[in-house]
Amino acid sequence: MASNALVVGELAEGELNATTLELIGAASRLGASNITVALLGGGASGAASKAFEGGATKVLTSDDASYDEFRGDQWVAAVQNAVEQASPDVILLAQSHVGRELAPRLAFRLDTGAAMDCLNVEDDGGAVKATRSVYGGNAMATYSFVTSPAIVTVRAKAQDPLEPNAGASGETGELPGASDSRTTIAGREIVEAAGLQLQDASIVVSGGRGLGAPEGFQVVEELAKALGADRAAVGASRAACDLGWYPPSQQVGLTGKVVTPDLYIAVAISGASQHMAGCSGAKTIVAINKDPEANIFQFARYGIVGDYKEMVPALTEAIKAAK
Ligand SMILES: Cc1cc2nc3c(=O)[nH]c(=O)nc-3n(C[C@H](O)[C@H](O)[C@H](O)COP(=O)(O)OP(=O)(O)OC[C@H]3O[C@@H](n4cnc5c(N)ncnc54)[C@H](O)[C@@H]3O)c2cc1C
Repeated sequence: MASNALVVGELAEGELNATTLELIGAASRLGASNITVALLGGGASGAASKAFEGGATKVLTSDDASYDEFRGDQWVAAVQNAVEQASPDVILLAQSHVGRELAPRLAFRLDTGAAMDCLNVEDDGGAVKATRSVYGGNAMATYSFVTSPAIVTVRAKAQDPLEPNAGASGETGELPGASDSRTTIAGREIVEAAGLQLQDASIVVSGGRGLGAPEGFQVVEELAKALGADRAAVGASRAACDLGWYPPSQQVGLTGKVVTPDLYIAVAISGASQHMAGCSGAKTIVAINKDPEANIFQFARYGIVGDYKEMVPALTEAIKAAK
């Protein structure tokens, strides 16, 4: 059992993001009695209370705004300092642009191993076991560690946060301010995206080439809307994006976004391995396809065989009626 866990938290506009709370939940389920959260950037010390409410026992912070724009060399030095303070058996990071760069750098510095993009991390008779999807979502691989600390990056939404413990508090400590960086950020471009982001949605409804025309996405959007604009987002297969039917920013898959919602509804999508690489981590997959032999049914918990033009509006109406 891991007794000391270090969670490398992340802030979104000065607030603790949801994935950090999920990582604290994962650390708690590993049996860690000491859960230290490292927070870097403007608002870090203000976000500590939310980390305590989420289950952290100690929070280390630096409010230095130089950490706001992620630079690997600055962050790795600060996180190494957190490692010295927390002596962790396991270090958990999000599979984000931060975790993706930081985990291997940290593993090199600490002379240990990192398992990337995991869906689960658990205690296996005192050792850390991490599971990730491989071969485009067609198999699961389980990793154990022969070195310590075990470093694991975890996909957003793959783990549940703990029930918040309002008013909880704990020990706080400091991390050093940012050192000079060898990286200069030349510019920043924000992708215009209205509404709920794919990765943040607890429900993703995706459409594929089987929709037959871009207008097919209206039916898919109606279903997402009925499920709730605050929790459902619309995705698409690459074939649909390549045809120009839906924006490439909404593509799910190997060369698109990786999503791990509670519910993934695949409408007129065949279930190619490259598509499944982006959604096989969903807790429940529902497939709507007119071909009973479609590959997607191998992954789906619930399958509806039929023409989407009939099935999806009927489902949308049933959801509206149930509200
Ligand atoms: C290197 C590489 C990377 C790739 N990356 C990605 C990726 O990131 N994401 C991705 O999605 N793909 C990716 N692909 C492409 C992938 O291999 C598939 O070609 C693609 O996913 C197929 O999209 P689709 O399921 O929408 O279309 P199709 O395979 O054409 O399937 C359409 C489905 O719709 C069903 N259908 C047709 N009409 C109806 C109807 N009226 N009602 C209900 N069902 C209907 C059909 O039975 C069929 O199953 C990649 C490929 C390569 C080589």
